[in-house]
Amino acid sequence: MDTPIPDTPNAASPLLQVIGLKKHYALEDGKVLRAVDGVSLSVPRGHTLGLVGESGCGKSTTGKCLVRLTDPTEGRILLEGRDLAEMDRRELRAMRRRMQFIFQDPYASLNPRMTAGEIVGEPLRNFGGGGRPRQQELAWLFSKVGLRPEAMRKYPHEFSGGQRQRLGIARALALRPRLIVCDEPVSALDVSVQAQVINLLMDLQQEMGIAYLFVAHDLAVVRHISHRVAVMYLGRIVESGSREAIFGRPAHPYTRALMASAPSARERRPAQVLQGEIPSPLSPPSGCAFRTRCPRAEARCARETPLPRTIAPGQQVACHFA
Ligand code: ADP
Ligand code: MG
Repeated sequence: MDTPIPDTPNAASPLLQVIGLKKHYALEDGKVLRAVDGVSLSVPRGHTLGLVGESGCGKSTTGKCLVRLTDPTEGRILLEGRDLAEMDRRELRAMRRRMQFIFQDPYASLNPRMTAGEIVGEPLRNFGGGGRPRQQELAWLFSKVGLRPEAMRKYPHEFSGGQRQRLGIARALALRPRLIVCDEPVSALDVSVQAQVINLLMDLQQEMGIAYLFVAHDLAVVRHISHRVAVMYLGRIVESGSREAIFGRPAHPYTRALMASAPSARERRPAQVLQGEIPSPLSPPSGCAFRTRCPRAEARCARETPLPRTIAPGQQVACHFA
């Protein structure tokens, strides 16, 4: 049984809507790498959307496009109903405060020459007109993520991995975001520390109503934290639904294969694991991108790209046979 995740106020209206997002990289040899190739998703206020899929399927690129760490090639991104592409610089800057990013490796993203207090206070200085962040505000942020006020004077290397991720979270919280893109935020941490950081993120969501796009390849972690889950394969979302639907009644052959290859499932069903390598986003298969690894593939799958269809309330699947 899944532990119920409490609902948050205003969960019905979408905070973030993404429509037809594409990110194509033009490589030096003239080839085009389709990292993200038509992703649509939405995240309600205060909710968590888990984004799963094998390494290289475009999860991080999707997250980076959302917070404009990289510019999308195509598609619309709406925050609170407003299209980011239609905003002027001042509005975009204001919107950027509302969306933050937490990296997998907090060490790589924290400046080693800055104290923890400077690191967490930096967004406040950048966005707050240059004044010194108030000490009280910093103390509050540190206490929110379970760090002692003395920690403000320390440098990143003096912290453990889990504490460094807490610093990354405090920094992301500083501007009171509505959405945080968490890109594999616990996969670099010891298993014993992972749960603490996940529970911290969930507590902060309850208290502050923050929405998360939670990117991870660890299905157990995603199951624990997500209200809804989207499954990505080669730049597209092949299935999305409530946590209960995705884990309880997965309908896409890829979702089923992913579930079956998770460590907890493997003990029970050793036979069914994903066959072969994920194809290159430089030359994705025609039609359904999953067909080259799919046990159900037929001639039609090479010709026709399956569009997402609603197969149950709130559950969409892009497969001709689901
Ligand atoms: P994931 O996070 O799911 O592992 P990524 O979004 O990091 O996947 O990568 C998706 C694809 O895009 C991969 O094939 C990756 O090599 C490619 N890619 C990512 N960033 C760049 C870049 N800056 N230039 C070219 N290709 C990139
Ligand atoms: Mg990634």
